[in-house]
Amino acid sequence: MTMCQRCNYPRLFRSKGVTPTPNRLMLMELVGDSPAPLSPQKIYETLNRTHRLNRVTVYRILDLLVEKNLLERLSSGDRSFRYGLAPNANHRPHPHFFCRRCGAMECLASDSLDLDTRALERRYPGAIEKVEVRVDGICGNCVGAKGKMG
Ligand SMILES: [Zn+2]
Ligand SMILES: [Zn+2]
Ligand SMILES: [Zn+2]
Repeated sequence: MTMCQRCNYPRLFRSKGVTPTPNRLMLMELVGDSPAPLSPQKIYETLNRTHRLNRVTVYRILDLLVEKNLLERLSSGDRSFRYGLAPNANHRPHPHFFCRRCGAMECLASDSLDLDTRALERRYPGAIEKVEVRVDGICGNCVGAKGKMG
């Protein structure tokens, strides 16, 4: 897990009118510093291991941080959600890859797909709040594993 050196989470919270309580910050650091989006189950298990946070608390914080646009909720190909850092001044919107075989979801580089949302914003008469792009397929690990077995 790599710490993000650019985002100041307490300051980010205050800019959205969210009180940076220890539990909220802990969850934000876990999800925000993760190189890949996390499932709520994974978030709960990780936080509960060290801090005995219960499931309801974890889901309540996730809902709040999504509502305040600090985290984003991503739909995966298996009907469950993943959570990642919402785009902010330090992080551009980017597509995600979902592996149909192992269920892993990864972040793709923001320039890996040409997503010119500004062009869309100029043409679309309404207000665009979020663009979610998911690429489905078989991840590098699974393709490699199959190759070795064959
Ligand atoms: Zn950051
Ligand atoms: Zn895979
Ligand atoms: Zn991501």
